Amino acid sequence: MFLDPAAPALVDPFGRAITYIRVSVTDRCDFRCVYCMSEDMNFLPKRDLLTLEELDRLCSAFVARGTKKIRITGGEPLVRRDIMTLFRSLSRHLQSGALEELNVTTNGSQLARYAGELADCGVRRINVSLDTLDDAKFKAITRWGDLSKVMQGIDAAQKAGLAIKINAVALKGVNDDEFPRLIEWAHGRGMDLTFIEVMPLGDVEAARVDQYVPLNQVRADLLDRYTLEDIDYQTGGPARYVRVKETGGRLGFITPLTHNFCEGCNRVRVTCTGTLYMCLGQEDAADLRTPLRSSESDGPLLAAMEGAIARKPKGHDFVIDRVTKNPAVGRHMSVTGG
Ligand code: SAM
Ligand code: SF4
Repeated sequence: MFLDPAAPALVDPFGRAITYIRVSVTDRCDFRCVYCMSEDMNFLPKRDLLTLEELDRLCSAFVARGTKKIRITGGEPLVRRDIMTLFRSLSRHLQSGALEELNVTTNGSQLARYAGELADCGVRRINVSLDTLDDAKFKAITRWGDLSKVMQGIDAAQKAGLAIKINAVALKGVNDDEFPRLIEWAHGRGMDLTFIEVMPLGDVEAARVDQYVPLNQVRADLLDRYTLEDIDYQTGGPARYVRVKETGGRLGFITPLTHNFCEGCNRVRVTCTGTLYMCLGQEDAADLRTPLRSSESDGPLLAAMEGAIARKPKGHDFVIDRVTKNPAVGRHMSVTGG
């Protein structure tokens, strides 16, 4: 695609420029984390998925309209067959300077195999989701995961020179006794760490209210042990960061429930079927697959993207309490992409 430097950026009705897309390349995963999926998930038929070439075209259309950062996510992105083809083709936008960052969020299970190739494709930073350092708890949380494989993946990624941010979902009665240990471990290895509040997305077996730990409480508890210094660090995502004085490392908090982060929202999400969600916490969506497939020119696709951004909502309003029984939105995080 010809990238026109004069093409207008995508700006929503609230004046927020959309410069960041998260692309879920598969809804499948080799784990079944208790807060993310139910044990017996129904996955999309493969014929509904965009091909890797179509995903490239779609991402490139966003880059042509001002996207500076792309995060590849899922499901587990690294279990999609031939996924490195997509990273390799998107890396041309890094080389041209049109794209500033190409990242991935992964559960780490396949990293030992792919870390070197990711680095070769120009990926500089990755997010690895890891909620515990305890083998048995890891098994209980992920149902199918193997902690030692993830650790091998983290070793390989560091060896390949990738900067790592660890994402840990705070889970009541599961890992809420482990936060200092996670901090010391991540910072000891030179990695950032971010805690995430569990969000009410999709039906899972457990009650959300039994999983949810408010992070303002976690932060208050950490103050008994650490000095948390506010810093101005921004990654373009929703986390707010502090520096832990004792470890020297960065600690982020993603608080969709206790502190709504929508005002600075610069991102949208695309699923593996080409559905564009303008907000993680709202149902409204736009079909990009039909315009993408309707024409070899990108005109219909660009028009559909513009129409969708023009109705990006102001924000979400998640609630977790004993009264609100249904999830805020029916789709799982693995569909929309984390
Ligand atoms: N499989 C990859 C992984 O686990 O990193 C990428 C996709 S996963 C859906 C992205 C992130 O979403 C992970 O950090 C995961 O912990 C988080 N996540 C999944 N379900 C969530 C929920 N209900 N609330 C908060 N975070 C969730
Ligand atoms: Fe898979 Fe990631 Fe969801 Fe866990 S959080 S089930 S690893 S998609």
